[in-house]
Amino acid sequence: MANANYLFAVNFAIGLAFSLAFIGIARSQRVTMGYWCAAGFLLASSTVGLEALLPHTTVPALMSFLSFSCLLTALTLVAVGLFINFTKWSPWPLLAIYLAFEIAFPLVIAPAKRDTLFHAFAYQTPFATMMAIGGIALLSGSRLRKSTYERFLAIVLLLSSAQFLFKAFLAHTLGSGSNVQTYVFSTYAQYSQTISAILSILLGVSLMLVVMEESNSRTRHTLLRDHLSGLWTRRAFFEHSEAALKRKKGGGTPAVILCDLDHFKKINDTYGHAVGDEVIRVFAACLEAAGGDVCGRLGGEEFAALTLNCNPSLVQLHVEAVRARLLNVEFQQEGLRPTASFGIAMMNPDETLSEAIGRADAALYEAKARGRNRFVFSRNEKDVASILREALLRR
Ligand code: GH3
Ligand code: MG
Ligand code: MG
Repeated sequence: MANANYLFAVNFAIGLAFSLAFIGIARSQRVTMGYWCAAGFLLASSTVGLEALLPHTTVPALMSFLSFSCLLTALTLVAVGLFINFTKWSPWPLLAIYLAFEIAFPLVIAPAKRDTLFHAFAYQTPFATMMAIGGIALLSGSRLRKSTYERFLAIVLLLSSAQFLFKAFLAHTLGSGSNVQTYVFSTYAQYSQTISAILSILLGVSLMLVVMEESNSRTRHTLLRDHLSGLWTRRAFFEHSEAALKRKKGGGTPAVILCDLDHFKKINDTYGHAVGDEVIRVFAACLEAAGGDVCGRLGGEEFAALTLNCNPSLVQLHVEAVRARLLNVEFQQEGLRPTASFGIAMMNPDETLSEAIGRADAALYEAKARGRNRFVFSRNEKDVASILREALLRR
C-alpha cells in the first residue's frame, strides 16, 4: 500500500455509517444522545475526508486546522452527549476546554516544529483529554449502578484516550511526514488510520449499545409507571416488592400497607373526574413522601406500600404520616377533604407477598366497615402479640 488512502476510505465509511445509524436510532427511539453521536461521527468522517485531501491542497495550514478542529469538535460533541445523559454536571466547562484547545492550535500546536515530541503530544493531547473526560464522566456520573454496557463504553473511551497519546509516541518515532501534505504517504499515517478504524468501530458499537439500552430502560419505565400518579403499576409493584424482599437484609419485619381513598366515587360525582384525578395524584405524593421501600397504585383509587425493616409501631407512624400529609393538603375546592382507609399486614417469615396482601385487604375491608379514615392491622396472632408488646414497652 503506497499511502493511507484506502484506510481513509474505510474510516470515512465507518464514520458515515455510524452517523446514519445514530440518526435512525435517535429519531425512532427519541434518545437525544443518538443525535450527539450522529453529529460526532459525521464530523469524524469529515476529518478523514479533509486529511485525504491534504496532499492536493494549496492552503495546507487552513486544511490542517480544519481537520484538527473537526476531530476535536466530533469528540467534544460525544463528550457533551455523555455529560447531558449520564451526569448532573454542566457541560459548559467542556466548551471552555474545547475553545482553549481551538485557540491553542494556531498559537502553539501549528507553529511547533513537526516530528518533535512536543508537537506530537501538543497535537494529540486535546483529543486524548476529551475522550478521557467522557470516560470519567460515565464512570463517576450520577447513576449509582452502571450497566455492563456503560462500563464497556467507559473502557473504550479511556482506551481511545490512551490511543491518542500512543499515536503521539508513534508519530515521533516513525515520523509523520515532513509536512502536512506528505503525512498521507508516511508509515505513521497507515498505523494511525488502522488504530483509528479499530477504535472508532469499538466506540460506535459501544455507544450504540448504551443508546439502545437507554431507550429500552425508558420504554420499560413508561410501561411500569402509572401515568397519573407516577407510582409503580400493579405489576411493577409486585415485581419490585418481590425483588426487594429477596434482597432484604437486617432485622425488622416487612409490612404491606393497602390504602383506599374513602367515598371516592362521591368526590368524582361532586367535583368532577379531573378533581378526582388530582386527589389520586396528591394521595400518591403523600404516600411516596412518607417513605416506604416500594409504592404502587394497584388500580383506581387503591394503593399499596411495602416497608422492609419495620415493626408495628413504625408502620403505624408511617400510616399516620401519610394521613397527616393528606389532611394538611389545602384543596381549592370548598369542602374537599379526602381521607383514606388502610389495611396493614406484618409479613410472616413463611408468607408470600400475595398472602400478605390478601390479609392487608381483609384488614382494609374492616377499616372501611368500622367507619373509614382509619387503619386496621390484619388479625394475626403474631401481629397482635407484637403490637401489645410494643404498647407495653411504650408505657
Ligand atoms: P369506599 O369508601 O368504599 O372505597 O367508596 P369509593 O366510592 O371510594 O369506592 P368505589 O369502588 O365505589 O368507587 C371508586 C371510584 O373510583 C369509581 C371510579 O369511577 C373511580 N375511579 C377509578 N379510577 C379512577 C381514576 O383514575 N380517576 C378518577 N377520577 N376516578 C377513578
Ligand atoms: Mg374507595
Ligand atoms: Mg376501591
